[in-house]
Amino acid sequence: MNIQQQFKLTGNEKGYWFVSKNGRLWLPNGEVPVGGANDFCFNGLLAQPIGEWQGQTAWLICQEMSHSMSSIRPLLDNSDQSLFNMAGRAVQLSEFYRSHKFCGYCGHEMYISKTEWCCLCSNCKERYYPQISPSIIVAIRDKNKILLAKHVRHNQDNLYTVLAGFTEVGETMEMAVEREVFEESQIKIKNIRYVGSQPWPFPNSLMMAYLADYESGEITIDKNELVDAAWYHYTELPKIPEYGTIARRLIEDTIVLCREYDEFGEN
Ligand SMILES: [Zn+2]
Repeated sequence: MNIQQQFKLTGNEKGYWFVSKNGRLWLPNGEVPVGGANDFCFNGLLAQPIGEWQGQTAWLICQEMSHSMSSIRPLLDNSDQSLFNMAGRAVQLSEFYRSHKFCGYCGHEMYISKTEWCCLCSNCKERYYPQISPSIIVAIRDKNKILLAKHVRHNQDNLYTVLAGFTEVGETMEMAVEREVFEESQIKIKNIRYVGSQPWPFPNSLMMAYLADYESGEITIDKNELVDAAWYHYTELPKIPEYGTIARRLIEDTIVLCREYDEFGEN
């Protein structure tokens, strides 16, 4: 896209305002505010257009507000996924700029590029781009059942979901899928199919989602990662992630395959 640089607001600018610091976004009344820079007393602040949303400019301001700074997670409930994605871009760029004021090679001060989303060293000319960490998420089916697990971090809210993990250096996505599943559950899988992706800015992941079929093995959980894992018939599911998450989409896709199995046999 056409990158525009940061500049001082005159007050006449209009659009959606993504004000972010520390991985949080300003969400007064739970919404991304829209209007003129003057309406919010933003005159004189540094801002950067980071895209468009609903036909208006999306502005990033890297600072904290005195109230209503929130995780962007509630925006997932919005039916429009693109708002969540834009908010993720804002939060991640803000953190990227904040953590790249100095060069990791030579220690000199850096500046924000005028042509790309990157930071440039004024001394050694090194370029730094925002970090995006690829990760995999995979739903595994055995006949009319789906493998669901309760992660250590969901021990309190009792949420069951599919398996996920980060891709390691030098690994393909498919290798990461097989490795993560085996590490967490000791299950071997086959027929790995790519479904889609979702930016997951907590803090900077990009999730690639897969469906897979059970091949062999008994479930044995990695207790550092999981509290519980089991095969669930598609009509008797525990509490699962909300709509809007790619985990939910994978589960829904698998339910369809489970139902087809019950109606038509092997699929
Ligand atoms: Zn440098």
